[in-house]
Amino acid sequence: MADFNARETVIDLTHTLDDHSPNWEGTERSPFQAKELGNLQRDGYYSRIFTTQEHYGTHLDAPAHFAANAWTVEQIPPERLVRPLVVLNVRAKALQNPEYEVSVQDVAEWERQHGEVPQGAVVMAYTGWEEYWNSQQKYRNEQHDGLTHYPGFSLQAVEFLVKTRNVVGLGIDTMSVDKGATKTYPIHQFTSQNGVYHLENVAGLGVVPPSGATIVVAPLKLENGSGAPVRLFALVK
Ligand SMILES: [Zn+2]
Repeated sequence: MADFNARETVIDLTHTLDDHSPNWEGTERSPFQAKELGNLQRDGYYSRIFTTQEHYGTHLDAPAHFAANAWTVEQIPPERLVRPLVVLNVRAKALQNPEYEVSVQDVAEWERQHGEVPQGAVVMAYTGWEEYWNSQQKYRNEQHDGLTHYPGFSLQAVEFLVKTRNVVGLGIDTMSVDKGATKTYPIHQFTSQNGVYHLENVAGLGVVPPSGATIVVAPLKLENGSGAPVRLFALVK
């Protein structure tokens, strides 16, 4: 048997699921609420009931989020959830420009340094936006136009990754793989129709090597879920 402890470092890419994370609508009251049911002193055990949106905190978008007859959360084949992880570091550009979209050139630059994106990988954009996580106002960055403003992927880059590299999942350290100011969600439309899932509000990407890690994507196995809270681990040799 292999020495399990010598194998890999495990990096947690998940924000803690709590009642003080940025939420999609920007409401004061969190969509996540937990209430105590059992109390150790009163009942002899501790337990709670909680409610949450499917798209809150670090979460997975199932293809059914934007496409009819596509996989809901529990239907995504498990072999798609453990994959090579590619991290595109666009932090320097994205923190300067909340309209930044990860480009085909960003992918080409990664491939010049690390070789072709492996077939069937999960590709994540590290924009640095995580540094605003503790401020809903900064993280959503809603402006006078009534739209939120934060970086995302360009459709051209995503089409390239899905059509030529068979990427199975996309991830980002913002609220959405489409940039905040979109009204039409072109990335969500395209990926959902192609069976590609998303990971949003990802944490800790700054310490993951750009190439060579394995991602473990473990969403709640939620029946009929359009999305679900997810636990993400990067395994690094
Ligand atoms: Zn979502």
